[in-house]
Amino acid sequence: MADVCPFCRQAAASVVSGTSGMHVFCHGCGASGPFRYTADDATSAWNTRLAEDALRARIAELEAALTAEKKCHYLAVRLIGERDARLEEAGNRIAELEDLLSQLANAVTVYRTGTTNHAIGQAQGEMAEVADRAQKFLHTGE
Ligand SMILES: [Zn+2]
Repeated sequence: MADVCPFCRQAAASVVSGTSGMHVFCHGCGASGPFRYTADDATSAWNTRLAEDALRARIAELEAALTAEKKCHYLAVRLIGERDARLEEAGNRIAELEDLLSQLANAVTVYRTGTTNHAIGQAQGEMAEVADRAQKFLHTGE
């Protein structure tokens, strides 16, 4: 007995005799074949063809899934590459900023030292003036 037609899903297929031999013919959609010498062989070939069709469909499904999987893989590899490049850029930028920060800290230290030295110089100058005036007052009373 011929299995359900893989094209129209009807079970109304029967073995018929043709010019090239016996073959199963679907009364639902007209699908037929493969040709064999006997009705049993034609039925067996039709039923095997069903299995082959199912296997081909499964292979096509798996190939499509594999293609999708490959696309995902390539995308993931590309994204990982982009991420690594950005991490490297960020690392370089951080190093630059740390260098600038270090330069700024040095500049602040130099500025503070300069300001302190200037204030000390000013205070020393003022003390010297006061000392001069005190000496002058001691000697001249003015
Ligand atoms: Zn059919």
